[in-house]
Amino acid sequence: DYCFSTQISHLALDIGGTLIKLVYFSPNGDNSQDGSIVVGNGCSVVKGRLCFAKFETRKIDDCLDFIRFNILQHSGVQHPNGTTRDKFPVKATGGGAFKFAELFKEKLGIVFDKEDEMHSLVSGVNFLLKTVPREAFTYLDGQKEFVQIDHNDLYPYLLVNIGSGVSMIKVDGDGKYERISGTSLGGGTFLGLGKLLTKCKSFDELLELSHQGNNRVIDMLVGDIYGGTDYSKIGLSSTAIASSFGKAISDGKELEDYQPEDVARSLLRMISNNIGQIAYLNALRFGLKRIFFGGFFIRGLEYTMDTISVAVHFWSRGEAKAMFLRHEGFLGALGAFTSYKD
Ligand code: ADP
Repeated sequence: DYCFSTQISHLALDIGGTLIKLVYFSPNGDNSQDGSIVVGNGCSVVKGRLCFAKFETRKIDDCLDFIRFNILQHSGVQHPNGTTRDKFPVKATGGGAFKFAELFKEKLGIVFDKEDEMHSLVSGVNFLLKTVPREAFTYLDGQKEFVQIDHNDLYPYLLVNIGSGVSMIKVDGDGKYERISGTSLGGGTFLGLGKLLTKCKSFDELLELSHQGNNRVIDMLVGDIYGGTDYSKIGLSSTAIASSFGKAISDGKELEDYQPEDVARSLLRMISNNIGQIAYLNALRFGLKRIFFGGFFIRGLEYTMDTISVAVHFWSRGEAKAMFLRHEGFLGALGAFTSYKD
């Protein structure tokens, strides 16, 4: 469900370790695509829609075909002989903007205008929070609540981008930011370990499995150690996880003896919890009260958001807030896109 027009004039790419994200401007794109953003108003010369698409980086040929047939041909910049005419400036960010620059030039005649990755992430979030209504929301106890952000009271905040790896960025203003931390235990770890442990072929399959699983089968809980009671003196309930995957050491079982859905569930819980905790510790380091989580790992998944929110809420004793973004996966691509006006 992509939106097209006869005059696609701008395109930005974020080529990450796992996924390629595209944002393109379509003056007469319709609203058939979920999440597309209307831009321009009555007095603006430029009116249309920002549209989104994503491809797996390992299937980059699909992305090249998409751009060739659905963007370059619609934009009128492609010669009948397949080469790209004059100028079709393409903004690109992420590691792949370097790694695949030659490929895009050779196959599509596109020369990347490269944008810095962290800068793009921050610009993307600021753009969304300032211009797109109902973008940010909290998720706790099954309740999604949209948050109205006051533009004059936006900074400072912590941005936690969960892609293949995780970056934590303290943002103090437009173009004012510092990457203060990160962790290599991110979406790539979930997908990579998940594939090895469950034989799943895709992220969607792994998520689907995790929906049906029960992490208590494999995780060692406080109650397992304390014989079913809480360790109330230090505020740990019997259901708190004492050791992720910890039960697997004691009951002499092999991987095959566990249900793949339970493994997927424990893994999702472990990764989400860990990121929530590291995020909170970094927020604490700099006295930041708001933490925005982005990146394609989240995918609007309730269980993931709930785990992250509970971790932030638990460790900060309710002081810090985890917030999520509707266009979470396209932050870098959107940021690169907004650099057109610089
Ligand atoms: P990167 O820029 O490093 O590729 P992303 O923000 O695109 O990072 O997030 C990539 C992560 O998102 C993957 O590691 C995986 O956990 C998750 N993910 C979500 N949807 C998919 C998908 N369709 N295919 C692969 N990974 C996906």
